Amino acid sequence: MWEGSGNNYAYLVVDEKSKDAVIIDPANPSEVLPVLKKQVDSGDIKLTNIINTHHHHDHAGGNSEMLKHYKLPIIGGRDCSKVTKTPKHGETFTIGDSIKVKALHTPCHTQDSICYLFEDGNDKAVFTGDTLFIGGCGRFFEGTAEEMHKALNETLAALPDDTKVYPGHEYTKGNVKFGIKIMQTEPIKKLEAFANSNKETQGKFTIGDEKLHNVFMRVDDPEVQKAVGKSKPVDVMAALREMKNAS
Ligand SMILES: [Zn+2]
Repeated sequence: MWEGSGNNYAYLVVDEKSKDAVIIDPANPSEVLPVLKKQVDSGDIKLTNIINTHHHHDHAGGNSEMLKHYKLPIIGGRDCSKVTKTPKHGETFTIGDSIKVKALHTPCHTQDSICYLFEDGNDKAVFTGDTLFIGGCGRFFEGTAEEMHKALNETLAALPDDTKVYPGHEYTKGNVKFGIKIMQTEPIKKLEAFANSNKETQGKFTIGDEKLHNVFMRVDDPEVQKAVGKSKPVDVMAALREMKNAS
């Protein structure tokens, strides 16, 4: 959505067997509704929920308009417009027969930020909103470096390495431009090459990749610590965010 300005992603996830479907962060209904309507009207999907990653308008700001067209319960952070259910940290729910979803509270960018781990058989994906981006992370609008360190390096880092990452924005190019000034490793060079030749990077990288090419997930790395002049992980996180904000 808003290609060229926000470069936001809304995601439609469908359980193939039951056709039950959820729409994640449909913030710009004028772009999202025509796509949904076509698939709902043809019977290809049955919408069951709106899911929000956090309350910001470019994620949850489409809820009221969406409800005019589809009366759906909204699962999201406590501050999201029209939210009907805020899952607890670690709480699970299902979509159709085969998709299991687990809510992971990751407060910092906003206090109500939630990442959602989706599992279908051996396939795993995590929808990270503005907490984790490919090669970067969200600004600390409502939280601290300590909270982002916990969100990225404890909560999300604990997910299986082969979990694919689906963030709320396409910010990879800018992130890698910053990251490569901090560390010049093979993984970040590979990410740079990918970002330079692909407009979209969502779902192309995993938690395992992020641990290698995302400086915000490498706060223990001596090369990163040296570049920011700090050694305590939380201090490294704070310094990286300040440097990125100023870059
Ligand atoms: Zn946001």
